Amino acid sequence: MVIALVGFYSATFYQSIIPYAPLIDLIIVGLISGLILLVSILIHELAHSIVAQRYGLKVEEIELYLFGGVSKIGEEPKTPKSEMIISIVGPLSSLLIGMGFMLITFLPIYIHPILWVTLLYSGISNIGLSIFNLIPAFPIDGGRVLRAYLWKRRNNLLSATKSASKVGTFVGYGFMAYGFFQMFTTGIFSGLWLIIMGNFLTSAARHSYHQTRNEVVLSKINVKDMLNVPDLAIPYNTPIDIALRDYFFPYRKSYFPVNHGYDIVGIIHIQDIKKIRNWQRSEIIIGKLMKRITEFPSIDEKQSGKIALEKLSEINEGPLLLVVKDSETNNFMGFLGKSDVISSLEFWSLHMLNTDSKVKKIKLFV
Ligand SMILES: [Zn+2]
Repeated sequence: MVIALVGFYSATFYQSIIPYAPLIDLIIVGLISGLILLVSILIHELAHSIVAQRYGLKVEEIELYLFGGVSKIGEEPKTPKSEMIISIVGPLSSLLIGMGFMLITFLPIYIHPILWVTLLYSGISNIGLSIFNLIPAFPIDGGRVLRAYLWKRRNNLLSATKSASKVGTFVGYGFMAYGFFQMFTTGIFSGLWLIIMGNFLTSAARHSYHQTRNEVVLSKINVKDMLNVPDLAIPYNTPIDIALRDYFFPYRKSYFPVNHGYDIVGIIHIQDIKKIRNWQRSEIIIGKLMKRITEFPSIDEKQSGKIALEKLSEINEGPLLLVVKDSETNNFMGFLGKSDVISSLEFWSLHMLNTDSKVKKIKLFV
């Protein structure tokens, strides 16, 4: 898309310099400029990826989007310095490529007008790409540089990401507002372009913030902090119809632990009960229908939230639950489901943002 657009613009640009240029020249200029830009964007992204790999980060793939590429780096940079360098090499390489093209056009040699315009246009588009990427709107490169700076200053990745993505959202809205303004003044097309870009930017800022937040929070808390300790269990010998009447209907939960004396021995899920016909429900006890606790994947309470989430996403049937065990005695401690992880994320991220230096200072005055 962006390539076609650049091709179109470069051809128009050629026409404005050399009026009455033959159509075939315009097509050649358009095609070559588009292709050069495609390669330039790839080099820009490769620069990010190579440096990221140097710093030991996994790079999954490079995607080309509407207005450029995005290197999908699987994890967050480990230090502000590495993030700063990984982010800056992209725009820097675009700038160098652009300046290289421009330099050739200034050489005192004869260059055919078609080639000259192509070179000049490729130079301008690369420098433009570099400048665009330096806008401090997280998650584009400039925003990442801003985040790295704030991260270094505050020594808090989460709070730095929050501020940087706020700037990103703000810039995105700015683009959209300017786009609407343009729609009414110069034309629908250029305005629409800005609106699409602004919208992309705001949603990318929000999404990236959540991703960072989840990663930071989950790496700092362990299973014990997210654990769901059941406050209610169904006795092993309860008939199914009684369990429905006394537990499932009044509490509207999809599953319950099953206890035998003081021990939790299994889990009964509403899906298991559905398989039993109505008239059989008074004859079968919960203990015969439940899934044993040993059949569930288990996790040590001291494991990090990140590992817990990975384990949870590996489960593909039945209740998506992990059984949490005490790290020393191996005793049953509770459960961990996806909903427990989500609510813990909300709570702990709030907690971690509030333990910022700002809040501490206020407390000292009180
Ligand atoms: Zn970049």
